[in-house]
Amino acid sequence: MRNRTVLISGASVAGPALAHWLGRYGFRPTVVEIAPGLRPGGNAVDFRGENHLTVLERMGVLGPLRAIQTGGTAMRFVDAQGRRLMELPADFAGGDLEVLRGELSRVLYEHSRDATEYIFGDSVTALTDTADGVRVTFASGAARTFDLVVGADGVHSQVRRLAFGPEADFVRHLGYYVATWSVAGHSRAGRDSLLHNAPGLMASVGGDHRDPHRALAFVMFASPPLDYDRHDLDAQRAIVHERFAGLGWEVPRLLDALPDATDLYFDAICRVDLPAWSRGRVALVGDAAAGATLGGMGTGTAVLGAYILAGELARAKGDHTVAYPRYEALLSGLARRCQKSGDGAGKFLAPRRAWTARARNALLNRRWAMDMTLRIARNRTESIALPDYRQVGGDLDATGPSGR
Ligand SMILES: Cc1cc2nc3c(=O)[nH]c(=O)nc-3n(C[C@H](O)[C@H](O)[C@H](O)COP(=O)(O)OP(=O)(O)OC[C@H]3O[C@@H](n4cnc5c(N)ncnc54)[C@H](O)[C@@H]3O)c2cc1C
Repeated sequence: MRNRTVLISGASVAGPALAHWLGRYGFRPTVVEIAPGLRPGGNAVDFRGENHLTVLERMGVLGPLRAIQTGGTAMRFVDAQGRRLMELPADFAGGDLEVLRGELSRVLYEHSRDATEYIFGDSVTALTDTADGVRVTFASGAARTFDLVVGADGVHSQVRRLAFGPEADFVRHLGYYVATWSVAGHSRAGRDSLLHNAPGLMASVGGDHRDPHRALAFVMFASPPLDYDRHDLDAQRAIVHERFAGLGWEVPRLLDALPDATDLYFDAICRVDLPAWSRGRVALVGDAAAGATLGGMGTGTAVLGAYILAGELARAKGDHTVAYPRYEALLSGLARRCQKSGDGAGKFLAPRRAWTARARNALLNRRWAMDMTLRIARNRTESIALPDYRQVGGDLDATGPSGR
């Protein structure tokens, strides 16, 4: 086996999933995460279709994830008086299995840590790819050499920036911004999320299935690219406040919670497109390679990507020159098809014109249209035959209980 030591940047979904598989095949993964610990909370993410569920089962995490699934949440669009306009069923956003991103991350971490070195609170600042390995410098000042490096550090990947070039070359803004934050002391009666539109705006409030006294605000607005500091939460709070001030319905209550929201997530809706997912000894997986901020089934693609990248490395006995191109050839078509679902997420949830919102509501109030939309999403995740690595790298115990 060549190239045993693998540095993975990012400990959210793709990173720990890749570490799990590499550890199982006899590699020695190290995961470096910029946050001081696993990042808790976050939005609900979903898996849909046989490919996603099969990989989770082969990892041994399907049962643990089923035990903490949210059960999904129907999304009900309402007018300013709270009257129902249209409803998306729970499986529209929740797929076959929905969990909170932070909880998924924890389960994947627990299933990878025995064979993985985890380093929190540090990040890669320089990479030098040589014939024998990648010389890596960390923000802490440490310097180490790894056989391979994988960027699993999300849409704004630092590894991609260092090894492939500036973000602007690969990340395309899709005309919208999204924000989420918790609203303490807000009891959202019932399980459904409520959503309210004004032209180019969407505000929503959903219950927290673990805490009846907390709700999650989720807003979206149409905008060309904005110039702001991605590390300045106050600047982001001010942008959200300015966009939504004046909108009625539940919005004033949601905005009241914004100044104290330490878990504010704010980002552009964008997608990542690269001409190739690897360069020399460095590869990308998950959102870093083919992200779509929202609606692009990025979590399932991240888990599939980790499975295929590790499986191909094991099959090629660590030869990245063979494994990296095969990984990309197997997955990139599916990833692009899933990203396409995300391209229209902003326009769908926050149409710029009132008549477009009315047309959306009228169409999706018809069951056949809803069924067709769900079928298209599922077909995208099942558009490749899942490779089987169960006889590779000594991984002989990987068959799940149902023999998936
Ligand atoms: C509001 C919202 C709703 C979503 N809903 C869904 C959904 O319903 N279904 C779905 O499939 N997907 C959904 N997604 C997308 C999903 O969250 C991502 O596709 C998925 O998390 C990708 O995982 P990842 O591990 O590739 O990247 P990320 O989850 O972005 O993780 C990147 C990790 O890298 C770390 N990191 C960043 N920079 C550095 C650095 N320099 N050094 C070290 N570590 C670093 C970060 O702290 C983070 O832990 C949603 C996203 C958002 C924002």
